[in-house]
Amino acid sequence: MYFIANWKMFGGINSVNSLDKVIKFIKSFKKKKLAKIIYCPPHTLIDSMSKKLKNTNISVGSQNCHEHESYGPFTGSVNCKMLKNVGAKYVIIGHSEVRQSGESNKLINQKIQTAIKSGLKVIFCVGETIHQRKKKLTKKILSTQIKVGLNKIKNKKGIIVAYEPVWSIGTGIIPKPLDLLNTINFIKKRLKNNKILYGGSVNPKNINQLNSINNLDGYLIGGASQVSKKFIDIIKKTYN
Ligand code: PEP
Repeated sequence: MYFIANWKMFGGINSVNSLDKVIKFIKSFKKKKLAKIIYCPPHTLIDSMSKKLKNTNISVGSQNCHEHESYGPFTGSVNCKMLKNVGAKYVIIGHSEVRQSGESNKLINQKIQTAIKSGLKVIFCVGETIHQRKKKLTKKILSTQIKVGLNKIKNKKGIIVAYEPVWSIGTGIIPKPLDLLNTINFIKKRLKNNKILYGGSVNPKNINQLNSINNLDGYLIGGASQVSKKFIDIIKKTYN
């Protein structure tokens, strides 16, 4: 199971020390081989976090990347080469908070192609808005996001897909179990060889309910991942 921590735009240099608890926990955790943990902090912390997590089995990723492979005049942007240089192994692409600022499925596709070429593993986010859900467009939206986002990508196998309904992110609301089961199965039918995660308000209180949906390959966790105790609880409860 994957446990991917998305710290969003939170954290200063001292926040990296909060990982001490997680490192300690995972060292003595009997089922550590089953849990694949990836931290995606803001760009400013990738370097220090990579150093902190050296010699652990916890990896570091970025929350976004630029679509260009090489250096260039793109003020404020960071490319995959730069991310790898400071220790990132993964990159989240297509997060709804980035899509909201105008990132199209086509641009997401370019970013995914670049990330793969550069040797970063991709965490590809898909999900419908509440408006789209109310109009019963969920499957159509997901199909388009997957089709365009993964267009011309030959080796899709290593891509981790996170289904994150936009209405669930940061709201405390999670999908009804049967709805989530069906949506994950819908994605799995299209992407038979990929790991499919769920993301959106995952926390220690609802993790048991989510774990009862037994077709999930893990979680992308925002808010709760910023508190080590909550993050550890989510992992512990998953293997109880
Ligand atoms: C996320 O940022 O991907 C996310 C799922 O956030 P939260 O867990 O806070 O809803």
